[in-house]
Amino acid sequence: MTPRMTDEQWEAQNGSLSPDQARARGLCWFCNGNGVLYTAFGGIQRTVPCRECPGDGKAQQ
Ligand SMILES: [Zn+2]
Repeated sequence: MTPRMTDEQWEAQNGSLSPDQARARGLCWFCNGNGVLYTAFGGIQRTVPCRECPGDGKAQQ
């Protein structure tokens, strides 16, 4: 059985980089290089495609 993550743990996957830190690493500032955003509400945990990059998580020009 897969251990279930709390909503907080799920959203923590977004990473903790600030936009400036992400940019300095060549990562998309919006998704921290994940290509997706992790969102959870009331135990419903979803991933949403990043709207700032094509999903590769790289910094855009
Ligand atoms: Zn992105």
